[in-house]
Amino acid sequence: MSSTGPLAASGRPPLKVAVLGAGTVGVEVLRLLTTQADDLAQRVGVPLQVIGISVRDTTKDRGPHVDPSLYVHDAHALVREADLVVELMGGIEPARTLLLESMAHGASVVTANKALLAQEGAELYETADAAGVDLHFEAAVAGAIPLVRPIRESLAGDRIQRVLGIVNGTTNYILDAMTRTGASFEDALATAQDLGYAEADPTADVEGLDAAAKAAILASLAFHSRVALQDVHCEGITSVSADDIAAARRLGSVIKLLSIVERVPGEGEVPERVSARVYPALVPTSHPLASVAEAYNAVFVEADAAGSLMFYGQGAGGAPTASAVLGDLVSVARQKVHGGKGPGESHYASLPIAPLEELRNGFYVALTVDDEPGVLADVAGTLSRHGISIATIHQEQEQTDPFEAQEEAPAPRARIGIVTHRALESAMSGALSDLSAHDAVVGVDSVLRVEGE
Ligand code: NAP
Repeated sequence: MSSTGPLAASGRPPLKVAVLGAGTVGVEVLRLLTTQADDLAQRVGVPLQVIGISVRDTTKDRGPHVDPSLYVHDAHALVREADLVVELMGGIEPARTLLLESMAHGASVVTANKALLAQEGAELYETADAAGVDLHFEAAVAGAIPLVRPIRESLAGDRIQRVLGIVNGTTNYILDAMTRTGASFEDALATAQDLGYAEADPTADVEGLDAAAKAAILASLAFHSRVALQDVHCEGITSVSADDIAAARRLGSVIKLLSIVERVPGEGEVPERVSARVYPALVPTSHPLASVAEAYNAVFVEADAAGSLMFYGQGAGGAPTASAVLGDLVSVARQKVHGGKGPGESHYASLPIAPLEELRNGFYVALTVDDEPGVLADVAGTLSRHGISIATIHQEQEQTDPFEAQEEAPAPRARIGIVTHRALESAMSGALSDLSAHDAVVGVDSVLRVEGE
């Protein structure tokens, strides 16, 4: 695994690399470390030598680029020997303890572990700072797409207002399939699982947790504040129906699972705050995010001086994610060779979190109502009492054909779709509770935000 290029012959010792995990991403990282060893040595200044690999199952065949003689039984001993540690195990433990130990022993670390960073980021950053080592995690957000470094370094002199995007490929694949084929969520998920876009247990993706972890990381970086997973309002896509997708189409929109982190301006005594949220939303087809298809990711960053920047590409997959990991590895390796340390945590602003209820959004609301005179006026009146004004209201479908209705048949019902102007989240909660209690409202079928207008 060591370089045979000119720098290897220069006599400078290689940097010792420990690789924790050789699954989808780890195998690709090991492939690039082997096949590009000479180029990497040139770029870093010394060769990178893999001194050990930690996995659970040492009998599994992982292909030609994973040398079984490098498997170790004791990952803790391995990281104590390493100059650089690449963590690609996932999960909280033992990844957390191994990274803390690595840094305490002077190794710089690269991880793709968004869940760990969103939950234990502060502890990891503090340990890295105390030990004077680097902690890099480009692959943790949007796979191959360079996003962490642009926010952390390229835009360090600007003031970011908002980061908005699609950062989970699995849910984008499912919503895109529902949009293209009219399939139900369940059928689109089953197809995504068959094709390997969704895991057997899709919870973290479809419930929005993966996107929320990424939102926490992005908010922390963009706003120089500590934002953890529990600070992110999170709604997944499990209740998005084929009817919602069809309604969105009629409104000239598509439904996307969005991660949104933004500054909320201060008002009077209330200081400037940060909002971080993940939910499915209607996005107009004219918006660039609407055309992000299949499992691709795309993220907009809006900054005062730079304006709008868009990042687009593959947000997951072994090779794309390995590209981001290798980029980080070269960076931290260069720091080791030349001395110094890259950017650490920046949380000087310490902006508080704005609760969702205090934000304003446009909404799409679908109600099933008894199809009788005066119902639309009642619905409009209820919204108006809560300070919500309607942009459009229309009947989406009749649920019983009135021409075929018999005397004893149930009263005809209709699904109505309402798009509101921007309104307070708390006002919409109040209005929905009143609407649910209305005699003629059979049910609130759907409530989705409208974004990107
Ligand atoms: P994976 O395929 O499940 O691989 C995990 C690897 O870690 C396996 O080799 C596994 O060993 C090893 N491992 C797990 N627990 C271990 C333990 N306690 N001790 C030793 N080895 C252990 O996962 P992945 O998809 O490569 O993802 C790795 C990381 O990258 C995760 O943090 C993930 O969130 C992140 N990431 C993944 C992608 C992607 O597209 N896959 C994209 C962006 C970020 P065995 O093989 O022996 O079970």
